[in-house]
Amino acid sequence: MSATHARTLRAIVYIRVSTEKEEMQSPEQQLFSCSEYAAKNNITIIGKPVEDLNLTGRESAKRQIASVIERVRAGEADVVLVWKWSRFGRNNYESQVNLRELEKAGGRLVAVTEDFDTTTYHGRFSRDNMLLVADLQSGIIGATWQEAHERRHRKGLPHTGQARFGYQRCPDCRRKEDAPQEYLSCDTCKGVLVVDPARGPALAEAYERFTDGESVAGIAADMAERGIRSLSGTVMKATQWQVVMDSGFGAGLIRWRGPEYRAKHGRQSKKPSTYDNWAAGKHKPVINMATWERYKRRREASKGISWPTSAKYSCSGLLRCQAQNAAGNLCDRRLVASAVLRSGGGDTKIFRCPDISVKACKGVTVTLRRAEDAILAWLLERSRGQDMGVMAMKRAARRARAVSDIPSVERELTGKRTEGARLLDLYLKALVSEEDFRNKKEELDAEVSHLESRLEVLRLDSGEGVIPSAEDFATLADLWPRMQPAKQRAALGKVVGRINIVKTPGKQYNKIEIIPVWEMDQAAS
Ligand SMILES: [Zn+2]
Ligand SMILES: [Zn+2]
Repeated sequence: MSATHARTLRAIVYIRVSTEKEEMQSPEQQLFSCSEYAAKNNITIIGKPVEDLNLTGRESAKRQIASVIERVRAGEADVVLVWKWSRFGRNNYESQVNLRELEKAGGRLVAVTEDFDTTTYHGRFSRDNMLLVADLQSGIIGATWQEAHERRHRKGLPHTGQARFGYQRCPDCRRKEDAPQEYLSCDTCKGVLVVDPARGPALAEAYERFTDGESVAGIAADMAERGIRSLSGTVMKATQWQVVMDSGFGAGLIRWRGPEYRAKHGRQSKKPSTYDNWAAGKHKPVINMATWERYKRRREASKGISWPTSAKYSCSGLLRCQAQNAAGNLCDRRLVASAVLRSGGGDTKIFRCPDISVKACKGVTVTLRRAEDAILAWLLERSRGQDMGVMAMKRAARRARAVSDIPSVERELTGKRTEGARLLDLYLKALVSEEDFRNKKEELDAEVSHLESRLEVLRLDSGEGVIPSAEDFATLADLWPRMQPAKQRAALGKVVGRINIVKTPGKQYNKIEIIPVWEMDQAAS
């Protein structure tokens, strides 16, 4: 609320409770939020709140809002306070119409928990978006929509062609020229998403660390610190990681609910056990089925067990078993901390392949001390300029590419945003059907978020910080001995992609190979 208003604003509070279970917000809570907002912003509430408790039918609800607007027109109040934008109508369309009417009457709508300045283009854009999101979530998705989903499921594709965390469109995918929000059918990928080179490995790591007993909160904090972001570029909370993992998409699966499960399980629960239909997707998994089964088991296990909340060791999750497993393939599992080795030089943890105990892999072991010595030696070598010539060349090439790509991506993004605003306009003028609108809007949103994350990556690449310099390594090596293990792990995540523990015959120590993050696209993830 602007501070330039000299006189006190007068407000009518409008409360609406809908019957959809997932968005029950009690009238008391809504009223409380509105009153609190009014008190803070020097607004006087006029009369009793107007309540639509969804008991009186659609027509009388319409009349109620109309009467609120009339009171504003009559000069009784200046603003209408609602809990969220989506309260001012039953769906996006109604809300938008009511909003226009209120503004024509000289009033203004304020959503007290979503308060932003709607006198600016961006404020209005955010508000319109929130209304759309509320609409999509409100379960008014029609039968056609449902059918489209089921068709895609049968073809082994997720609901929509949009990106999933850990995945993206293939590099050959091209947009339609006359309808740039849609993709042409692509012979390379046939509409199947491919693994995102940065988020894909992070997703695999999250699964494996979770199944090895780490808390989601700890994993989320670590990933946040290492710069792993959601598709829309935001820091991911623990709950978001859990939802992403629950979907099973990273295990190569797609899932959906039949009518019975849809009725039984609210929108809130995303746990694997609340889905009755699973099928193999066409996309490539980032984890194997054994890991997925372990994930489900721990996910369904009772609560009350306490797990470490942050990385315990500098190399947590980085060490990989490079032995042949029982099936004759490269094992590649992450080593887990096990027993303590008592030795003359002091006790140290032993890391071992978790498949050794189930006899699925002959496995490798390495002590924490040897791993940490190797890491420090590696940091010191780089601080003395080892490999720096090659790295400087790679850095320069990457920067040049990023700098030349940024303007076109920025242009494309602006175009998409304008298109989104135009699409909403067409929909409000009833020039496109609701179904077309939803389809296009969803595609468009996915593209915008894809472009935003691309831009973010390019901006990072165009900066100096892509591959650290010898000085960066020197600083890190210097701080290293004084850092807590969790901090060490976070710092290491920026430079080390994985540490291979290679089985060595005879009585020799297993070999330790440190693979930097910028060489991860060549190495297997
Ligand atoms: Zn493609
Ligand atoms: Zn192994």
